[in-house]
Amino acid sequence: MPEPLTPGELIALDRAHVWHPYGPMPGRTDPLVVESASGVRLRLAQPAHGRDELVDGMSSWWSAIHGYNHPVLNEAVRGQLDRMSHVMFGGLTHEPAVRLATRLVEITPEPLRHVFLCDSGSVAVEVAVKMCLQYWRSIGRPAKQRLLTWRGGYHGDTWQPMSVCDPEGGMHGLWSGVLPRQIFVGPPPAAYEESYADELRAMIERHADELAAVIVEPVVQGAGGMRFHSPEYLRVLREACDAHDVLLVFDEIATGFGRTGALFAADHAGVSPDVMCLGKALTGGYMSLAATLCSARVADGISRGEVPVLAHGPTFMGNPLAASVACASLDLLLGQDWAWEVKRLEAALGEGLAAAGELPGVSEVRVLGGIGVVQLDHAVDMAAATAAAVREGVWLRPFRDLIYVMPPYVTSDDDLARICRAVCAAAREG
Ligand SMILES: *Cc1c(COP(=O)(O)O)cnc(C)c1O
Repeated sequence: MPEPLTPGELIALDRAHVWHPYGPMPGRTDPLVVESASGVRLRLAQPAHGRDELVDGMSSWWSAIHGYNHPVLNEAVRGQLDRMSHVMFGGLTHEPAVRLATRLVEITPEPLRHVFLCDSGSVAVEVAVKMCLQYWRSIGRPAKQRLLTWRGGYHGDTWQPMSVCDPEGGMHGLWSGVLPRQIFVGPPPAAYEESYADELRAMIERHADELAAVIVEPVVQGAGGMRFHSPEYLRVLREACDAHDVLLVFDEIATGFGRTGALFAADHAGVSPDVMCLGKALTGGYMSLAATLCSARVADGISRGEVPVLAHGPTFMGNPLAASVACASLDLLLGQDWAWEVKRLEAALGEGLAAAGELPGVSEVRVLGGIGVVQLDHAVDMAAATAAAVREGVWLRPFRDLIYVMPPYVTSDDDLARICRAVCAAAREG
């Protein structure tokens, strides 16, 4: 074993060599060094603002719903590790992947029947887009190759997903001429408005001949702005897509597995998409895995084409370690009253964040399921807001004008209250 690096050495090497999300090179701010994590707590290698342990308000970006170092999930990984960590998926299969795919089909809305396992959320969206474009090509309508979405969305960082991210947040200006040009309607209003529904219908009808699919995040737009909208719009999209021969894709990478109070956000509306993307909490935050599900109609269409296969196959497709821990995470989730736990989070966040609404500089507080958002009327001072939260013993990662949390479902009432205090402190000082 090499000598362990001191926290100082680690940060110096990190700065010199390691990119971080949306980061400059070299980095301008020192990241905190995490030594280990357990339950809802991150243990730091050296204290920051007097704290060596932080309650994680972010679930490591929506994913660690059961908390860290969970004995059941650890055991699932260990057990699988002793059998095999990976084998290629071309020509081979294995129980973890088959079990996981079958389980996902059982718990997702009805017509979704076939599962493509892939490495990350962005790839799942790439696969979804490829499925839709290939479907229309296969059935003899190759002109249908554009996508329609509403503004304010986020679908990942590779090219097709970027093309349907919010044009400003997704920096379309920087990439004009490079990104595929998609069709945008305005951001969905929070409440149902008939005029907006009419706009959706009109745009889908007008572009039907060139539209392969409509792709949206149902009910909650995540990294594009943490906004919520009426599930009623999903019914409008479903009807308009059916009426005009357009496929409907729900990106449930952030909203899946209970976060919004329904197992899938589509369930709020009782609407089924033709294609659904899952990721993030799929493995309980243990490792990267995502899935793209589609209906028999989509799969059959592709199979009737000149190239009757879905031309995609990641090297680590169906990774057994990831699939095993995903199965264990689903068992944990569905083996408890997850809906009650998410309601508990919703009540605690609603109560604890109400105070933030009174603060100067706060424009709105909104809570849905296990998601709490405090929107400021100015860009957040990241350093000041993060420091304020750390002083309260909480890890937050604000962006733009948003201080938001989606705690692990296992967060205790006391820790939820602490998270809310930290959000209020961050809003005051950020
Ligand atoms: C995070 C996210 C993605 C991208 O997932 P990665 O695993 O980061 O590639 C796509 N869509 C939504 C809605 C997301 O929240």
